[in-house]
Amino acid sequence: MRQIGHFIDGQSLSEPGGRKADVFNPATGEAIAQVSLAPAETVHQAIEAAQAAFPAWRATPPAKRAQVMFRFKQLLEDNADAICAMISEEHGKVLNDALGELQRGIENVEFACGMPQLLKGEHSRNVGPAIDAWSEFQPLGVVAGITPFNFPAMVPLWMWPSAIMCGNTFVLKPSEKDPTSAMFIASLASEAGLPNGVLNVVNGDKEAVDTLLHAPEVKAISFVGSTPIAEYIYQTASANGKRCQALGGAKNHAIVMPDADLNNAVNALMGAAYGSCGERCMAISVAVAVGDEVADALVAKLKAEVEQLKVGPGSDNTNHMGPLISQPHQQKVLSYIDAGVEAGAELVCDGRTLKVDGHEQGYFVGGTLFDKVTPEMSIYTDEIFGPVLVVVRVPDMQAAVDLINSHEYGNGTCLFTRDGEAARYFVDQVEVGMVGINVPLPVPVSYHSFGGWKRSLFGDLHAYGPDSVRFYTKRKQVTQRWPSASLREGIHFSFPSNQ
Ligand code: NAD
Repeated sequence: MRQIGHFIDGQSLSEPGGRKADVFNPATGEAIAQVSLAPAETVHQAIEAAQAAFPAWRATPPAKRAQVMFRFKQLLEDNADAICAMISEEHGKVLNDALGELQRGIENVEFACGMPQLLKGEHSRNVGPAIDAWSEFQPLGVVAGITPFNFPAMVPLWMWPSAIMCGNTFVLKPSEKDPTSAMFIASLASEAGLPNGVLNVVNGDKEAVDTLLHAPEVKAISFVGSTPIAEYIYQTASANGKRCQALGGAKNHAIVMPDADLNNAVNALMGAAYGSCGERCMAISVAVAVGDEVADALVAKLKAEVEQLKVGPGSDNTNHMGPLISQPHQQKVLSYIDAGVEAGAELVCDGRTLKVDGHEQGYFVGGTLFDKVTPEMSIYTDEIFGPVLVVVRVPDMQAAVDLINSHEYGNGTCLFTRDGEAARYFVDQVEVGMVGINVPLPVPVSYHSFGGWKRSLFGDLHAYGPDSVRFYTKRKQVTQRWPSASLREGIHFSFPSNQ
């Protein structure tokens, strides 16, 4: 069986012994590879390689770093089909969906290519007599990223291109469920001319993560994953004096107003709820219908579409969605559907019975739709991370906004309306980090930054974009005086000021 090791100091490193985990093809249920779960020593090896590479990389002019990034971007494009095949085989998502993920990752690389512009700092002349002042952005040193299974190529590309363009060196710990694309992409960075040790990839689980969290050489941690782990990462990293941004889970609501273009809203909801089998942190999992008339029409139209969903292996681009990531996750999603039925929600489309011919062992769940869901039900409160859309009925828009604001998560949301005043009010009042107006997946483009509110993000700075320059650098403020003989002053004991 194929063995997946690590990528340390520019070399693939296999670990013949030690703990390993199976990597599955979720469309067939077959184990297709084994990934090494790094012990602490291997993680320290990666940290040491990153530390050794730091002085020379820090001293490399930003424009030279950018030249590596430009070549790397080209290699990503040249190898797009191979990368998408890796993503689809291990994650299960449809190839076209994998291409969308990769394209968004490439956009983060494009942003990183232009980063010298953002590293210029700020300068003020004559802040006092013959005194000039400036601030500059200096790299932190070794920084680490820990990423989830659901965007195995894109989320690492949110992190390390920005981090290394800022002059840091990096240790990436991808999801152990689908590590191949991140490993291959690291080898492309080497091929593009990235010096050994600037980017290292260690595969592993909690042991590897905890080693990164406790290593004093690691100065900052970027994390993306589920909320309980995000909170643990943030607390542990912070307690160890590290800078940390930890992005967590979500329950994203879309409000459908009575004046919305219902056909457009339904099309948008279908893609946002069921694309990637609902395994997106920006997936819409709650449709909030304003008024029973809207709700009845919405549910009828959604039902017709959900019944048409084509579910099958991700290698077939005619499928709308593939399987879930693993058998335990499939069981978890199925048990949420059972819980929704038991709690008294109206099951409009039942994905539990789906069988995909020729893929009976795959981790498939069909499109599922619930109506008349109420806020205390677990299918409303919890992130299910599957193809389950729940409809909550509310009397008016304020009730919809209050509902969203009462939820523990605040990642993404959307309002479907034709009313500009309502849209403006919604943007102002809703306590969510990323807001769409008639845009169901308002994932910011690479030159803005990505982040939720409330328990969807622990930390201050958002991921990628301009915030990443702040996150991956520390500011140094320099005040400089070159006094001439005529300005030479005596001793002053009062606090220096322009008085
Ligand atoms: P996860 O939290 O299980 O795993 C994420 C990473 O943490 C993996 O690398 C994993 O190896 C590691 N990990 C798991 N358990 C750990 C532990 N006990 N201690 C230390 N490290 C541990 O998440 P997942 O299932 O891979 O991904 C799905 C989740 O990620 C969903 O909740 C989704 O909403 C979230 N997500 C959030 C965003 C965002 O931007 N907010 C983006 C993508 C995914």
